[in-house]
Amino acid sequence: MEIYTATITGFYTQFSSDDSVVPFVQITPITDHNGFCVNQIPIVLMSDKSDFMLAIGDVLNISVTKMKFLVKVATPSFSERVNVNLTHCPVCHRRLVRINGMPFCTNVNCRAHLREHIYTMLSAIGFRFDDTTNRIIESILNKMYIDTPLDLFKITVNDLNSIDISESDAQYFIQCLHSIRGHVTLEQYFKAINIVGMSQEYTARLCNVMRGNCIDLDSIEKLPTISMPSALPFSAADDLEYFSDYWLHNKDFMIQLGKILYS
Ligand SMILES: [Zn+2]
Repeated sequence: MEIYTATITGFYTQFSSDDSVVPFVQITPITDHNGFCVNQIPIVLMSDKSDFMLAIGDVLNISVTKMKFLVKVATPSFSERVNVNLTHCPVCHRRLVRINGMPFCTNVNCRAHLREHIYTMLSAIGFRFDDTTNRIIESILNKMYIDTPLDLFKITVNDLNSIDISESDAQYFIQCLHSIRGHVTLEQYFKAINIVGMSQEYTARLCNVMRGNCIDLDSIEKLPTISMPSALPFSAADDLEYFSDYWLHNKDFMIQLGKILYS
């Protein structure tokens, strides 16, 4: 097995649109025997036997087997040492949950994913996007401070006028947004709360359970108290962990979205 030597030049984290949180170790470039150049190592591809307490300036011995990197510190530097195997989201500090080995942030209000969550929520509930609405959403994201995707529903025509949106465009946007309310199906609602890893099959089963109750504020309030997921077994343990975590931490979002859509 060939062992490569490289020096750590930095660390960074990539926040993907699917909510995965992938940290990387940046290294001085190495070229393998196939001629591939590697200048960063995704932590998710480091083998369990690797050293995870790393520091900028460390000289590493790196070997690659079965698409996994075995990373060992050969000469440690004196820089501050960090645990690169992230257990919590660096932005919102929520514990990361692993699905198929990939770490995900389960916080639907995490600022690292705010833009994606807004588009996912609006698409799911049947919002009609066009040039005007897209321009306004981008202006809101760039010029206004919003904490959660739900804050969109609190925005008024006046708020939009203050960020240089014409009154007619502002009225059009607010009308598009609020005209959806009351027409959202349960399936759309579950897509809107954006549970990564929840299969269509599971969504369908969940909807069946929920249909016993009608869609009203009362049943939405009770939603997080339904005994999940024991009533509806998941196939993969990863999904189960993710789903429980989501259920536990995003209750407020689920209830608030339900109130907005169904009251
Ligand atoms: Zn987060």
